[in-house]
Amino acid sequence: VSVHILARVDPRKCMANQQCTALAPDLFELAPAGHSRTKRKDETDFTDEDLPLLEAARDNCPTGAIHVETMAEPDDT
Ligand code: SF4
Repeated sequence: VSVHILARVDPRKCMANQQCTALAPDLFELAPAGHSRTKRKDETDFTDEDLPLLEAARDNCPTGAIHVETMAEPDDT
């Protein structure tokens, strides 16, 4: 199976303390609007290798603004 990962920041919950951008600067950045966002162009544009940092960022976010979902999908071989 391959694993699909979806991650996003809820801008209404984010208090922009930049904990996630400090923890995972390759995955999160501060948007001009004053909240954090992921650096990927698409919220599903992540790989297995990103998962530990995504989950750490989610678990450390004080407001629970980071949403991470994993979906196992059968390989169509
Ligand atoms: S850790 Fe949470 S509250 Fe802080 S900037 Fe990131 S998403 Fe926003």
